Amino acid sequence: MKVYDSKGNIYECDGVIVTVPVAVLKTGMIEFVPQLCKEKRDAIESMNVGSSSKLFLKFKESFWPDDMVELSLKGPVNYFWAPGLKGGVKKNNVLTALISAQNSIDFRNKTLEEITQIALDSLSRVFGEAPKKLFEKAHYQDWYKEPFAKGGYYFALSSDNRERIAMTTPENGKIMFSGDQCDECHSTIHAAMASGRRAARYYIQKFDVPMQFARIKPKL
Ligand SMILES: Cc1cc2nc3c(=O)[nH]c(=O)nc-3n(C[C@H](O)[C@H](O)[C@H](O)COP(=O)(O)OP(=O)(O)OC[C@H]3O[C@@H](n4cnc5c(N)ncnc54)[C@H](O)[C@@H]3O)c2cc1C
Repeated sequence: MKVYDSKGNIYECDGVIVTVPVAVLKTGMIEFVPQLCKEKRDAIESMNVGSSSKLFLKFKESFWPDDMVELSLKGPVNYFWAPGLKGGVKKNNVLTALISAQNSIDFRNKTLEEITQIALDSLSRVFGEAPKKLFEKAHYQDWYKEPFAKGGYYFALSSDNRERIAMTTPENGKIMFSGDQCDECHSTIHAAMASGRRAARYYIQKFDVPMQFARIKPKL
């Protein structure tokens, strides 16, 4: 089979593992010739990807309690956390906000300044003037706007796992899909890694790859 990249390079191979996220598959950016089987096409159509963004706020100094890990508030920017597993890492004075679903969609037309103001207003309801006084800079990341992500968390609507079954079935023995949508613990890094290992194992067995090449340990 042949794989064509966007620069016109052609790669000849016996099989491929397609690891792009669901939202990218849904754009049709990658063309399969001949087209994928109906089960996979239906699965790609029916799988969904939610919207998710993060706002990073850097302050001149921290104003939140040492032991604060998470903070839930009302409003469109309603979930913050401090760096470090148990909070209390104040060195970089950064708070991160996760903005999901409709709020993330609504923010697509807002400027960084507008989003930052909404977040600072939320924080001020708890911490008074400190957030606005100590604010230094902000960064906003919306994964929908990233051409190689096109969205946040993957989710499926069916209760019978038909999408996962379709996506993990080898296509003519030559195309394997991997990614978090291909594992029962979907929407997590470990799901993506487990599905990648399964896809690789499929070819290792199919092509009888010697084990010294097959045992590649990821550097964690
Ligand atoms: C805000 C947010 C927070 C999260 N937090 C956590 C967490 O704390 N713990 C956790 O376990 N999971 C978390 N997740 C979920 C986790 O990030 C995903 O489940 C995981 O990254 C999916 O891995 P993947 O390999 O399927 O896809 P991806 O990680 O999206 O990898 C796909 C790869 O394909 C590449 N690609 C895309 N299109 C093309 C193309 N056309 N050509 C070539 N390459 C392409 C991309 O550049 C990318 O490298 C989070 C997700 C979001 C959005």
